[in-house]
Amino acid sequence: MIESFNQLEELGRDRDLAEVFLESDSADHAVPAADILETLSRRRGVMRDCIERGKSGGLSMGKLVGNEARLLNDAFLAGKTFLDPLTVKAEIYALSVMGENSRMGVIVAAPTAGAGGVVPGMLLALEEERNVPPEKTVRALVVAGGIGSIIALSAHISGAAGGCQNEVGVAASMGAAAAAYMMGGNTKDCIHAAALALKNTLGLVCDPVGGLVEVPCVKRNAIFAVHGLTAAQLALAGVTSVIPMDEIVEAMVRIGRSLPRGLKETAEGGLATTVTGCEIGQRIKDEANERRAQRAAERERTAQERKTSVSQ
Ligand code: SF4
Repeated sequence: MIESFNQLEELGRDRDLAEVFLESDSADHAVPAADILETLSRRRGVMRDCIERGKSGGLSMGKLVGNEARLLNDAFLAGKTFLDPLTVKAEIYALSVMGENSRMGVIVAAPTAGAGGVVPGMLLALEEERNVPPEKTVRALVVAGGIGSIIALSAHISGAAGGCQNEVGVAASMGAAAAAYMMGGNTKDCIHAAALALKNTLGLVCDPVGGLVEVPCVKRNAIFAVHGLTAAQLALAGVTSVIPMDEIVEAMVRIGRSLPRGLKETAEGGLATTVTGCEIGQRIKDEANERRAQRAAERERTAQERKTSVSQ
């Protein structure tokens, strides 16, 4: 098992990073590398499908989000976007996945559902815009998973444990390393890309409005997909992280522990407790209570009808 980024740098010196992770995973779990690649190829297909579905939009369960991908895609197709196509597509794809997630559609958790748009947004946009063969994207997913696994040895991957740095921050870090790999980066470049992405998300809190993975989560995924691409670009140009990746992960864990409970997915702080956030939270609670009352009334009615038909 690869236990640290320091160890990874040693193991991956002058080697293909995906190969290093495949070899380690095969040994740890007794699964042939071909099976891992086959599974990830299917995951890439699920990501692709959900991006296509997500582009057409539709309101989320909490009715707070859902049409962001459609709006940006329409603007892009109409030539009304000002950023370069790679960036805009990364945003559209991240929004598409998160729109699907908010409508309870099928997505790939990468590493979580709440952060599930970042990695596919970055990698599938890169694949399209830079003509990367799909097989290379699959190997980049191996890299993304490997980076996430090493982080997960020391940190819980959840907003409830350490704030959004532990979800979207980790996703951006995984995606940055994978993007650097796709663009020809070596092991060191990939680790620096991961480090640059992660350290610049430290302190990011988890404050979902109404307790739903909608606001700020959906748009946050698009913004951090671009953040991850920026980290990969810097690393590929030779920009390095002064703080080593292992130490950044340690810092993330310490910051997560010191965050107040209200900023760790409880919806008791941050955006969730703004005036608008409270109003939305109250509306969601009222609607849930109403649905519960309707279901109880329905059960009562059915029970009464049964009683009446038995006594007849
Ligand atoms: S704000 Fe919280 S719920 Fe939303 S994506 Fe971040 S960690 Fe997940």
